[in-house]
Amino acid sequence: MKISILCIGNELLSGKTLNTNASWISRKLSDIGCDILEHLVVPDKKETIITGLEHLTIKNPGCVIITGGLGPTDDDITRPTIFEYVGTDSRFDEDYWTLLSEKFQKLGMSIPASNRNQALVPINGEVIENPGGSARGLKFLLNGEEMLFVLPGVPSEMKDMMNASVIPWIKENVKTSTSTRTLRTTGIPESALIEEIVEPISSNHGCNIGYYPSLYGVDIRISSGFQDKVNELSNKLYNILGHKIYCEGEYDIENVVVKNAIDKDKTIALAESCTGGLIGDRITDTGGSSKVFKGSMVVYSNKAKIDLLGVNKNTLDSFGAVSEEVAKEMANKVRKTFLTDYGLSVTGVAGPGGGTENKPVGLVYIGLSDENKTEVRRFNFSSDRKKNKLKTSQVALDWLRLTLINE
Ligand code: ATP
Ligand code: MG
Repeated sequence: MKISILCIGNELLSGKTLNTNASWISRKLSDIGCDILEHLVVPDKKETIITGLEHLTIKNPGCVIITGGLGPTDDDITRPTIFEYVGTDSRFDEDYWTLLSEKFQKLGMSIPASNRNQALVPINGEVIENPGGSARGLKFLLNGEEMLFVLPGVPSEMKDMMNASVIPWIKENVKTSTSTRTLRTTGIPESALIEEIVEPISSNHGCNIGYYPSLYGVDIRISSGFQDKVNELSNKLYNILGHKIYCEGEYDIENVVVKNAIDKDKTIALAESCTGGLIGDRITDTGGSSKVFKGSMVVYSNKAKIDLLGVNKNTLDSFGAVSEEVAKEMANKVRKTFLTDYGLSVTGVAGPGGGTENKPVGLVYIGLSDENKTEVRRFNFSSDRKKNKLKTSQVALDWLRLTLINE
């Protein structure tokens, strides 16, 4: 099915908000075999929304998905604009208004009159429930053939409604289905990765393959009209790449670390310097992390390393904060402080300043301690501050993941 996406919002055009809705919807729908024709971003302005829709529908997509501007504020004009575009009258849904008023009451607030527009429903169209918010979505059949979905801009609400209402409808109406698997790899650059898998990918496998490199690693997306072909090629890549593939689909490495730690009944503590708490943040983004993650110390200064974590002052004076010796003590001390199976530490020069000839920007030591030993690895990421933090967190989590696999 051909899909076009219209995102509405001044904040998207001014650059204040990144248009993650369009990318998320596109990825989801490409995975089930849809053809994404266009993304269009327009301001919260009636005339532009209408000309935008006219532009998109010229190409006869099977479905147009709109996000944004269904809220109660004055600038949210998507609802009346779409009613006008579709040519439908609306009615006031008293039941929904009562429900919304009660929701506000429970929160100890009285409902603002501006929310009344959220209770307007089209005469010729359907309403899509929104379990996570007050802005319900809309669904219209245009000219008897083109489906128009209107969803809120809030990403979490949009995703829930796509999963519950839009995707099931599209799946039912897609004529040819596509099977897709995305194998997520880390720790190997794209060129080296392709060299390793050159044999299976050059064979007559009957799939489309895409490579998506990022700071996290390289994702390999395999798709075909035949599930068994996708599985066959995926299996061949697994045989070659093994644990370089950390997971599939939408999972992240921190999800895998938490899952493996739960499965193996192991606990983790962190001592973070140059990552400033990023590794702990990523771990705690995962549901269930409290079962295995005991805590993190962000020990940025030397004083914090000494006073809070108990790193030896002499070690710091002799070798400097960014050193194998300090990383080792940090990992070991944090494991003992939190009484965990593993202590993971990071210390490095994140940049842009602070680099020297011996210790350049991007130099990072990562330590991993268990009750038998403490190992330290040295890395040189040599890029900018944000990237250094991210790469450090990815490499540290990957080390933890591989260690847990071998438990
Ligand atoms: P609300 O009831 O919150 O007003 P709404 O449907 O009117 O819902 P918007 O006002 O357009 O939605 O946006 C709500 C929030 O969602 C804002 O924080 C906005 O930045 C974010 N948002 C809107 N559109 C997108 C998008 N395309 N990608 C990512 N975030 C978005
Ligand atoms: Mg809004």
